Amino acid sequence: MSPCLFCQIVAGEIPAYWIAETERAIAFMDIFPATPGHALVIPRRHSADALEAASDDLTACMALAASVGRAAVAGLGAEGVTFQSLARPAAGQTVFHSHIHVIPRQDGDQFVFPWPALPGDPTEIEAYADRLRGAFTNDSF
Ligand code: 5GP
Ligand code: ZN
Repeated sequence: MSPCLFCQIVAGEIPAYWIAETERAIAFMDIFPATPGHALVIPRRHSADALEAASDDLTACMALAASVGRAAVAGLGAEGVTFQSLARPAAGQTVFHSHIHVIPRQDGDQFVFPWPALPGDPTEIEAYADRLRGAFTNDSF
């Protein structure tokens, strides 16, 4: 099995532009940035995506992502921040170690919003809400 790219960054085996770290998570720059200052926050412990990660790792990653976002506002003059996490190929994930993108935003920048904001059919929305409510188990939380 090929080594996980982000595990190798955690281990210091391949270089990255580290910007912050905590006991459970690290933050470093994305080398294919969506906007200037685009960073990634990952748990030190491997999990493939947010669907698989332990909740303490998710908590640590979101907290560090918020810290990085505040640094983007304070240090880069970001007017907003997009936090994004993709899980599995169908969602567009390309590196299979959990991560949160922290993307500094400016009014009118080039970042493309991923869906048209059109109202849905209320009957369909309610039906999907029922299906989701029915899918939770005692292990869900
Ligand atoms: P995903 O598409 O899985 O949500 O995001 C993976 C991200 O990892 C992409 O935005 C991509 O630019 C970034 N990436 C891929 N290879 C490397 C690398 O070697 N170093 C760093 N720092 N980022 C990488
Ligand atoms: Zn990994």
